[in-house]
Amino acid sequence: MDYLKNYINGTYCEAISGAWIDNYNPSTGAVYAQIPDADNKDIDAAYKAAQAAFPSWSTATIETRSRVLLKIADLIEVNLDSLAEAEARDNGKPLSLAKAVDIPRASANFRFFGNAITQFASEAHESVGLNTMNYTLRQPIGVVGCISPWNLPLYLFTWKIAPALAAGNCVVAKPSEVTPMTAYLLGEICTEAGLPPGVLNIVHGTGPSAGQAIVAHPNIKAISFTGGTETGAHIARTAAPMFKKLSLELGGKNPNLIFADCNYEKMLSVTVKSSFANQGQICLCGSRIYVEETIYEEFKKDFIAKVSALKVGNPFDDDTNIGALVSKPHMEKVQSYIKIAQEEGGSILYGGAPVTVAGSENGYYLQPTIIEIKDNGCRVNQEEIFGPVVTIMPFKTETEALELANGVKYGLSATLWTSNIDRTMRLSAQIQAGIVWVNTWLNRDLRTPFGGVKQSGVGREGGFEALKFFTEAKNVCISYDADI
Ligand code: NAD
Repeated sequence: MDYLKNYINGTYCEAISGAWIDNYNPSTGAVYAQIPDADNKDIDAAYKAAQAAFPSWSTATIETRSRVLLKIADLIEVNLDSLAEAEARDNGKPLSLAKAVDIPRASANFRFFGNAITQFASEAHESVGLNTMNYTLRQPIGVVGCISPWNLPLYLFTWKIAPALAAGNCVVAKPSEVTPMTAYLLGEICTEAGLPPGVLNIVHGTGPSAGQAIVAHPNIKAISFTGGTETGAHIARTAAPMFKKLSLELGGKNPNLIFADCNYEKMLSVTVKSSFANQGQICLCGSRIYVEETIYEEFKKDFIAKVSALKVGNPFDDDTNIGALVSKPHMEKVQSYIKIAQEEGGSILYGGAPVTVAGSENGYYLQPTIIEIKDNGCRVNQEEIFGPVVTIMPFKTETEALELANGVKYGLSATLWTSNIDRTMRLSAQIQAGIVWVNTWLNRDLRTPFGGVKQSGVGREGGFEALKFFTEAKNVCISYDADI
């Protein structure tokens, strides 16, 4: 049994209360680790360490901060295999995916922001004729909180921490209690990279206890949160009266609009990925598939054929395409939606059933599931399921496709498949989403803004947007005497 610890002031420690939480391996259903059940006392200890480290970290040269971040990036790469194994065990995702995507991206996050901070600049505004010069001083905020979900554990944890640290803040961070392992391992890497004690503090525990304590802490001045929309609303209610800066990256129910004039083969293989990568547990998965009527039947047949060839299996098997869902409660939630779909009149075209994997009989495995729906307003098409479940439906016209795409409360991303440039321009402008991918999916350049509209969130991360979020802009206005 592994016993994970909080990483506070550069050292590992148990929760002050001595309480622990079980940590499950979703591919076997067995408890394999214990994590600290931190509460407000631990968060306050983490805050105090961060506050003590702030004067020196916030005034360290850009080169110093950059060098440490780049070193962390290097060490994540050096430890790629062990981190990927830890991620696959903790989350249930295929090891091949953790190796190809999650861990390289965690390293890329540190490398990107370690470099970006050397290029981050502020503006100057000369008030011509008034002998006045303004410049914008961008200062680190102080101690900030970063809270992340379980679906892309180290990937999203570092996506927040790296810009916060690059901008000169000290951080109190909490990974999901469902997938704490790689965040725990990151502490050691930070120490080895020479990150000074207290600059990053990693605390483990539940949302209502440790997470809430971060959000409610009067001196933690900004919160970057990625997770569910309901949790985001709760966080906003807690943080707003304290006027904290908030970045909320929340749920999605992303449309895939497939037009007959698209590159069919490319569309088909990418759509399989955008539907079921990471067991469909990516906020950016295209869970609503709308297909132009003229190719609908052909698409249905080909899509089912490709999806039925995916192998659901143990995350550690090389040929596994779909691993285990992250937890028993989550598996039950996803299954409940499959039942709802049937009650609502949806047709299960493929999947819908749990899978028994030999040697891992108690793991949380589910077939990739395709549901044909008739009503855009049905619950399986409106609510975020966040599992290997997609809906499909035909449309006749571009206008109808746009209405269907925008007909949900979410607005994170959308994918458009067409070779018509006019349509691309029209729809990209009118789709209500923070990201529109055209003839591609999950194609990320870290310089671009990332975030959602409607109930998918508030604010943007990525590139200089993240560095802006993690700094306060101060206008300095200097009046000068123009006469010598
Ligand atoms: P969640 O909201 O349950 O938990 C996310 C994090 O918040 C966890 O660390 C949790 O412990 C913490 N938390 C829970 N309650 C809290 C509270 N009251 N105060 C402070 N922290 C609290 O989400 P989840 O189930 O871990 O993740 C799945 C959700 O995340 C999905 O809705 C998915 O769409 C969303 N997500 C969004 C993005 C994005 O970029 N928009 C990316 C990945 C996942």
